[in-house]
Amino acid sequence: MEYRELGHTGEKVSTIGMGTWKMGVYTHPNQKAVQVYALRHGLELGMNLVDTAEMYAAGRSEEVVAEAIRGQRDKVFIASKVSPDHLHHDDVISSCHASLRRLGISHIDLYQVHWPNPSVPIRETMGAMEELVQSGKVRYIGVSNFSNEQTDEARAALSKSDVVANQIVYSLGNPSVEKTILPYCEREKLSLIAYSPLDQGSFPESRIPRALTAKYRMTPAQVVLNWVTRNERVLAIPKAADLAHLEENARSVDARMTPTEYATIG
Ligand code: NAP
Repeated sequence: MEYRELGHTGEKVSTIGMGTWKMGVYTHPNQKAVQVYALRHGLELGMNLVDTAEMYAAGRSEEVVAEAIRGQRDKVFIASKVSPDHLHHDDVISSCHASLRRLGISHIDLYQVHWPNPSVPIRETMGAMEELVQSGKVRYIGVSNFSNEQTDEARAALSKSDVVANQIVYSLGNPSVEKTILPYCEREKLSLIAYSPLDQGSFPESRIPRALTAKYRMTPAQVVLNWVTRNERVLAIPKAADLAHLEENARSVDARMTPTEYATIG
C-alpha cells in the first residue's frame, strides 16, 4: 500500500481508503458480519483510512466501523462527517459526541462538514469544529462538497487550525474537479479525498485501454483507482463489501503508470 500525507498535517494515510456508505443497511442475515469482516480485512491489507458519516444508514455505518476497529483503534485513521442540517454550534458538538459514542472511540481523526449549508453561517460551524479540536475530540477538520470559495470562507473562520481536506466526487465519469478543486488543493496543500471513485460501481470500463490492464496485470477497476490517485494530493475511498473487490482495490496502487499512459485514460 502507498501512503500519503493528509493535507499538511505530517500524518500518513493510505492512498486507497475504505468508504462505508450503504454499510449498516442489511438486506439479508449476516450482512453486518460480512461488512465488519470486509473492513477488518481491508485494515489487514493496509487501508488505514476509513470514511463514514452520521448520515450513513442513520448512524449504523458508524456502528459497523466500531465493530471492525475494536481492539485496533491505533491502526486506523477515522474520518466521519457532520450532516448539513446539524451545522449550528450546539448541533455540531452533539453530533460529534453521538458519532464518538457510536464509533466507540474517544476522538475522530478527521471530522468533515458533509455538505455546505448556506443558511448557517460558516463562522458558527467552524467555531464549534475548532472547539472540538481544542477539547481533543477531533484531530483535524475537513470539508466535503465545498467550492474553493466556500473552503476559503471556512478556513478564514478558523483561528488556530486549518481545513486539511475537501472530500469531493472524482472519477472517470466525473473528472471536472481536475480543473477546479484539485489545483486549489495543490496550491494550498490540502488533500482531495475522491468519493465515488468507481462511479458507484458503474465506471466506464470500455474507456480503459487493454494495453494497460495487460501490461500492469490490473483489472479495469484497479486502473481507474490508479488513475484517480495519480496526483500526489489525491486520496480515494472506494467502498467494497465484496472481498474480491476489496483485495483488488488494496493492490490498485502497487505500481504506478507513466504520465503518457495516464493520458490514454479518460
Ligand atoms: P464507489 O466507491 O465509486 O463504488 C462502490 C461500488 O463499487 C459498490 O457497489 C462496490 O461493490 C463496487 N466496487 C468496489 N470495488 C470494486 C472493484 N474493484 N470492481 C468492481 N466494482 C467494485 O461509490 P461510493 O460508495 O458512492 O463512494 C465511496 C465512498 O465515498 C462512500 O462509501 C462514502 O464513504 C463516500 N461518499 C461520500 C460522499 C460525500 O458527499 N462526501 C458521497 C458519496 C460517497 P461491493 O460493495 O459489492 O464490493
